[in-house]
Amino acid sequence: MVILERLFPDRIVRGILDVNLDELWANGIFGLILDIDNTLARPGAPRPDGETVRWLMAARERGFLVCLLSNAGRRRVAAFSSGLGLPAIANAKKPGRHGFLKALRLLGLEAGQACMIGDQLFTDVCGAKNLGIFAIYAKPITLWEVFTVMLKRLPEALALKLYAHESDQKRRARADGGRGGAADR
Ligand SMILES: [Mg+2]
Repeated sequence: MVILERLFPDRIVRGILDVNLDELWANGIFGLILDIDNTLARPGAPRPDGETVRWLMAARERGFLVCLLSNAGRRRVAAFSSGLGLPAIANAKKPGRHGFLKALRLLGLEAGQACMIGDQLFTDVCGAKNLGIFAIYAKPITLWEVFTVMLKRLPEALALKLYAHESDQKRRARADGGRGGAADR
């Protein structure tokens, strides 16, 4: 189960706008490492929509350090990031460690002070968890995406089902423990 746990995000949100920045800050997380395609914008889109841009600005005003980490090529990432004025790493080869370590260096933070937000379990979440980075799975903006990504969506759906099952079991165990404790007293 250890391998599977690397696929289990710390939080699941419907989209980046639903990320609870206050909770992150309260937990000592001051850096956001953000995937681009299908997390911040539709795959291939030149910029995020207005709401997402406002969210990014609010996060920075709140004090968060932000950088982009993408497996897309240099030209795509440079065009996207320069429009936002954010530092970015292209060709990151997530889930490999190298890109994540580079992002941490860029932010000047330890793994425990950063959060990865992305739409793929096998790249964004797995890579982050391997290094002890808090991982938020943001559901993909659209299901229309490149074929190689579409191939990963079925095993991803299975892993998410398992995750839901495990979370449910943990909740029940906690509830039973609570009841048992009350009965003992
Ligand atoms: Mg993505």
